[in-house]
Amino acid sequence: MKEYRAWCFDLDGTVYRGAEPIPETVSFIRKLREKGAGVFFVTNNSALTPENQAEKLARMGIAAAPEEIMTSSVATADHLLKNHGPLPVYMIGEEGLRTALMSAGHRIVQESPEAVVVGIDRGITYDKLANASLAVSAGAAFVATNSDKAYPTERGLVPGNGAFAGLIELATGVAPFYIGKPAVPMLQALADRHGLKKEEMIMVGDNYETDITAGIRFGIDTLHVDTGVTRTGDLAKYEEQPTYALGSLDGWIEN
Ligand SMILES: [Mg+2]
Repeated sequence: MKEYRAWCFDLDGTVYRGAEPIPETVSFIRKLREKGAGVFFVTNNSALTPENQAEKLARMGIAAAPEEIMTSSVATADHLLKNHGPLPVYMIGEEGLRTALMSAGHRIVQESPEAVVVGIDRGITYDKLANASLAVSAGAAFVATNSDKAYPTERGLVPGNGAFAGLIELATGVAPFYIGKPAVPMLQALADRHGLKKEEMIMVGDNYETDITAGIRFGIDTLHVDTGVTRTGDLAKYEEQPTYALGSLDGWIEN
């Protein structure tokens, strides 16, 4: 196995399932830390701040600093700053997105935004969707934190951010620029923020169509684990294969 300097882990289905940690991954991460390897977490979840996410990981026995956690909200704020500078933004989203936009120096406005940013918002209303559509039609840049159409809960699959961004696209005829996996801006933002080279990075995840595809598109090595969405047996139907595919991370590091 190659020595990687930056291990980038997906969260749900890779590190934990809902509120339950996946023990093989937890002990693998502990071994990586003992070896001095870099450990990062890359999540499409835009609702939590890196601090909230670090607290959630700590409750599962996984130590993580907020700087090691890249959320689609943080990458969205970075992307806007890099491409436009600080902007007046109309936001649909929760605390994770609000905090990320404001820490990057963007202003959250109700009138005349230059960008519309859409992340998951469990308090979404017709009014918010109408305001966002009107601003997009008036020419504001349209960015969505992630394209997940649904996400799993205890009750089953419920509408995800991609469903709402898609609704605005349907209403306006303007497609959003997506930040989260399978797009590459989160991996790009991690590389930029921590000075990582692509050959030093590996993306670890359970979902071929988001995690592994993002890694392949970004041009880094990938490791698929059979602990979540994509089963190992189904990998064969994809043209490009992950660099490694494992049942779980149990016992992968022997030294
Ligand atoms: Mg996952």
